[in-house]
Amino acid sequence: MIIQSKLPQVGTTIFTVMSRLATEHNAINLGQGFPDYPMSEELIALVNEAMKNNFNQYPPMPGWIPLREAIAEKASFLYGANIAPDTEITITPGGTYAIYSALTAILHPGDEVIVFEPGYDSYIPNVEINGAKAITIDLLYPGYGIDWPAVQHAITPKTKAIIINSPHNPTGSVIGEKDIEELRKIVAGKNIFIISDEVYEHLIFDDIPHQSILRYPDLLQQSFVCFSFGKTYNCTGWKLGYCVAPEALAKEFRKVHQFNCFSCFTPTQVALAKYLQNKEAYLSLSSFMQQKRDYFKQLMQQTKFTMSNSYGSYFICGTYEHITDEADTDFAIRLTKEAGVATIPVSVFYRSGKDDKVLRFCFSKKEETLERAVEKLSRI
Ligand code: PMP
Ligand code: GLN
Repeated sequence: MIIQSKLPQVGTTIFTVMSRLATEHNAINLGQGFPDYPMSEELIALVNEAMKNNFNQYPPMPGWIPLREAIAEKASFLYGANIAPDTEITITPGGTYAIYSALTAILHPGDEVIVFEPGYDSYIPNVEINGAKAITIDLLYPGYGIDWPAVQHAITPKTKAIIINSPHNPTGSVIGEKDIEELRKIVAGKNIFIISDEVYEHLIFDDIPHQSILRYPDLLQQSFVCFSFGKTYNCTGWKLGYCVAPEALAKEFRKVHQFNCFSCFTPTQVALAKYLQNKEAYLSLSSFMQQKRDYFKQLMQQTKFTMSNSYGSYFICGTYEHITDEADTDFAIRLTKEAGVATIPVSVFYRSGKDDKVLRFCFSKKEETLERAVEKLSRI
C-alpha cells in the first residue's frame, strides 16, 4: 500500500529522538521537557479517591463541569477574566491537542498562519496537515523578541491566524505589554485569529507578570488560549489541558474535539477540580522553578557554554561557540553519546534548520541531576 503523505517533510520529533538516545547511552536527559522529581502526593491521592468513588465513566464532552468552573474562577482571580465555564472552556488531552484542534477548526486550504521560529515543533505540521501554509518569522537573535515590523509585513488577505507562545519554548523569552499593543495593532478589526500557547503560564520568573490573552477582552474575542495541567502540576504524562475561547469559536473547536477525542480521562478532572482551589500550589511554581534556573545558570559557569537568559518555561539556551563549530545536531548527539548529557539542538525548531550553535537545556530537574549533568558538561 502507498500512502501519499500529508506530512512529507516530517520525521520523528526531536524529543523522541533525543530521549531514546539518552536512554540508549544512559545519559542524563536535559533534552525533552519534563520534571524528574515527584508530583504532589495530595493530587495523586485525589485521583485515587475519584477512581474509588466511581468517577470512571465519560464526563461531559467539553469537560467535567466543576473543573471548568474552577478554571473560570482561576482566570478571574489571576487575570480578571470573565469566562463562561459552560460555553467557553473545553478540557482537552493536553495543550498540543488544544492547539491542533483550534487550528483545525479555523483553517482551510490556502490559508496562511504566522509562526515564529524557533518555535515548538508541532505548530507547522498542525498548520500544514490542514492544507494551510505556515509563514515563518524569525525571533530576533539573541534576545528572541518578536520582530513586529516583520509581522506587519507578512500579513496578507490570506492570513488566518498568528500563533504566539509566552513563556516561550525553546528560548525562555516572554512577551510584555508592548508586544500586546503591537499584536492588537495587527489583528484589530481583522479576521485574524490568535492562537495563544500559554502552557508555561505559571513558569515565569523575576516577578514578570504573565501577559495572558485572558487579560485582554478585546483580543480574547478572536483567540483560542491553550493551557496544560502537565506543566502546572509537574505531571507532563497526564496529558490534560484546556482551551479558552469565546462561545462562537469554542463551538467550532468542540465540533473538532467531539469527533476526535470526545472527552478526556475523568479521574484527573475530578481531582483537579478540587486541587485548583489550592492557589498556593500554582502560585508557588514560579519561585520553585526560578531557583532551578538560577542554580543551573550558576553551575553552568564552570563550563565553556555561554548561557543566555531565561525568563520563563522549563528551558534555557546556551551557545557552544567556544567549544566547537560542529552543527548543533551533530554536537547534541555527540554530547549525549560521549559526555552522557542529552540536550535539544535549537536548529530543529527552525524549518530552515538555521543553526546559531545553540542548545536547549531543560532545568526542571532535581538539583542533584543538574549537578551531575554540569559535572559532565564541564569536562567538554
Ligand atoms: N506548547 C509548548 C510550547 C510546549 O512546550 C508544550 C510541551 N509539551 C506543549 C505546548 C504541550 O503540552 P501538552 O504536553 O499538554 O500537550
Ligand atoms: N514540550 C516538551 C519539550 O519541548 C516535550 C513535548 C513532546 O515531547 N512532544 O521538550
